[in-house]
Amino acid sequence: MKVVNGKDAFTIKKALIEMRKDQYIIKNAYRKPIVPVKLTRSKYKIKLDEDVKIFDDDGYPIPEGISLMNPEICSCILCNYSRLKEDSWDRFEDDTWYLIYDFENICDEALADYPMLMRIVECKIDGLQNIEIQKILQEEFNITHSLEYISSLFRNKIPKLIADKAVDKYLDWYYTTQEKGKYKKCSRCGQIKLAHNKYFSYNKTSKDGFYSICKKCRNSSRKEKMKS
Ligand SMILES: [Zn+2]
Repeated sequence: MKVVNGKDAFTIKKALIEMRKDQYIIKNAYRKPIVPVKLTRSKYKIKLDEDVKIFDDDGYPIPEGISLMNPEICSCILCNYSRLKEDSWDRFEDDTWYLIYDFENICDEALADYPMLMRIVECKIDGLQNIEIQKILQEEFNITHSLEYISSLFRNKIPKLIADKAVDKYLDWYYTTQEKGKYKKCSRCGQIKLAHNKYFSYNKTSKDGFYSICKKCRNSSRKEKMKS
């Protein structure tokens, strides 16, 4: 085996890092969340390239290892965010860097419609206590939440929303690159969504086995009915 060292080694290492970055951009273009397994041989090693191969009976991916589709993992990242971010800063050779990069993107998307939850995340990352967050929510959103409720939003609701968004991305990635999925247009909102139980309820009497109106529209019309 040929051994390189000194400047050559540095050049090669740099090239490898660049390659890794490109590879990552490609992966990201496919919108595939990272689904690595086997946490840590060393402090910075988390294996990246592990796929979910199993789907449950309803067609939901079953994540294994360090997957953003797992709410517990998302919660764990949120709780340790500052430290993970600091540890992986500029370390493009570390999987943690990619994990955090993906996490931030998915988190932004998942919470785009929930400004208050996003604010809680920001406050938590800044190291604020729940009692301080409570005050900020009162001032900025005119909402009073109990400390317990704020804590449960951060520990349960927010990680679930992020993991749910990761599942969306995984399904889209899977059914556009691995297997040809069927996409259909909701007859109410007109959005094109994957013909999957996550987006359309089952309907035995319809041709493709799903309702023609998406779950989101069905739920909102149900709420409308309850109001009137
Ligand atoms: Zn719809």
